[in-house]
Amino acid sequence: MKSATLRGSGESIPVNKIICLGQNYAEHAKEMKFDVPTSPVFFLKPPSAIIHPGEQIILPSISNNVQHEVEMTVLIGERGKDIRRYSALNHVAGYGVGLDMTMRDVQLEAKKKGLPWSLAKGFDTSAPLSEFIPAALVGDPTSLSIQLKINGKVRQSSSTSKLIFPVDTVIAYISQFITLERGDVIYTGTPEGVSRVDHGDTLEAVLQHADGHVLASLSVSVQ
Ligand code: MG
Repeated sequence: MKSATLRGSGESIPVNKIICLGQNYAEHAKEMKFDVPTSPVFFLKPPSAIIHPGEQIILPSISNNVQHEVEMTVLIGERGKDIRRYSALNHVAGYGVGLDMTMRDVQLEAKKKGLPWSLAKGFDTSAPLSEFIPAALVGDPTSLSIQLKINGKVRQSSSTSKLIFPVDTVIAYISQFITLERGDVIYTGTPEGVSRVDHGDTLEAVLQHADGHVLASLSVSVQ
């Protein structure tokens, strides 16, 4: 069973399910030639896809185009159904940074045929995940910076202020249909700048306060 760690608690929390937002930054929807959604779009990844800092991404042989998507991640600490937006952040244990690794060619083929994205998004090692920083230490989740460097070069850089659907809205929306439980992880969507990774690449992702103070970081390499 894969788990999440909450900094300072010494606790290892089993990850129950992973819910990922799609097309949650307008600039990324544009680069993918997707329409900007009018309500949150989400899909699931299996917890078996998680890897932790220092581990390796393994590229599946069926894809020639595995891409990085850096995203702020949210760890649910308290169970809830039909959560109201005004109290949604009370259900958050912490925030971190993750990579939603995607077999883009497999995804686009599935999309064209109207088939599910599960294979393109849920393969082993497709969910690198940092530790989580307690929500109280993070404060407002709507003004954080996320950044991804590959081999030392910045490839994605944005702010959670640009999320089309912010964390409270996402939690309220999802919990109408799917009960959120302690140990659930939400990937909040990627900004523009996605591109292919190659064998030997080193990916370094960070979640920071707007003043540059690093909250969470994640470093993984591609086998
Ligand atoms: Mg994504």
